[in-house]
Amino acid sequence: MYNIALLPGDGIGPEVIKEAKKVLYAIQERFGIKFNFKEGSVGGAAYEVFGAPLPDDTLNLVKDSDAVLFGAVGGPKWDHLKRELRPEQAILKLRKELNLFANLRPAVCYRFLADSSPLKNNIISGNLDLLIVRELTGGLYFGTPRGRENTGQTVRAFDTMVYTSEEIKRVARVAFEAARKRRKKVTSVDKANVLETSKLWREVVDEVSKEYPDVELSHMYVDNCAMQLVLNPGQFDVILTENTFGDILSDEASVLTGSIGMLPSASIGEKGPFLYEPCHGSAPDIAGKGIANPIACILSAAMMLEYSFDEKEAAMCIKDAVEKSLELGYRTYDIKEGEGKVLATSEMG
Ligand code: ATP
Ligand code: MG
Repeated sequence: MYNIALLPGDGIGPEVIKEAKKVLYAIQERFGIKFNFKEGSVGGAAYEVFGAPLPDDTLNLVKDSDAVLFGAVGGPKWDHLKRELRPEQAILKLRKELNLFANLRPAVCYRFLADSSPLKNNIISGNLDLLIVRELTGGLYFGTPRGRENTGQTVRAFDTMVYTSEEIKRVARVAFEAARKRRKKVTSVDKANVLETSKLWREVVDEVSKEYPDVELSHMYVDNCAMQLVLNPGQFDVILTENTFGDILSDEASVLTGSIGMLPSASIGEKGPFLYEPCHGSAPDIAGKGIANPIACILSAAMMLEYSFDEKEAAMCIKDAVEKSLELGYRTYDIKEGEGKVLATSEMG
């Protein structure tokens, strides 16, 4: 019996979570696994009822669960709120509370969708299949000191990029472990020609790689990596990188696949519960219309089965079903082809 905390959130979040839940019910029947779902309020929806984007009840429910499936949070309705009350704070706080230091984002361009990739003319069908492992709790986004100083007429603003060897080591291990289950190649991305944190990053990753002699390691500068992703994405298996670079590269990689509506993610740490969510946001422009693509959320549920519960066969079953559906021509509007029929969210589910 696995306890799953479902946090639907805002916009299309509840719409796609509903479909993932449907898929998990089917898995339950097929594989004789038992899921116990508990739903929690999060984001703008939680603010409306409890006055906070991550109420204590939700946090407690999450901490008592084995894994978290998260929809999306945010929307124009809550943009005016002060920072601590904004829906997005919920996900930042969750990552911190659960100490989820590694974000895993697979980017796959399905053979049957290769035409929706902006690279359709230079990717060979099916050859884009990579995993970005992004450090999630350190680096530039969290380093101190940060702030502003007024010196006469000039304003000076500063941020600090900090990494400890321990922080690098633990996320590097996640990348090497993941590579072992894939094509056994890690590309570590940094800016070691300029940044001290990157020099340390390179040293530590080299050190960790000695524990994984079966995995091939190479290093690449981030500017080159941004270019290589467009020129020849097929060369990558696992990309390991720090927080800021990972933020940018994972968005870049995601658009190469055709639609953000297809991409899942997992945020993991030393021990569970881990958190799974689609890469897309709450997409307020299409919310309530029943047209969102639920595949990103469904594949996030598959990642949950694989990483949190070690139910590999069940995870594979979901991935195969997605591929088969695409092969049969089923499409939501974001991945539609020409005049072909477009399915509603629930039909795709
Ligand atoms: P965030 O700030 O949370 O990243 P955002 O508005 O920047 O949110 P998304 O919510 O990810 O970005 O959506 C960007 C656009 O992509 C949406 O406006 C929508 O048109 C489209 N989109 C996102 N997710 C889906 C989906 N599951 N199915 C179809 N289209 C989607
Ligand atoms: Mg966005």
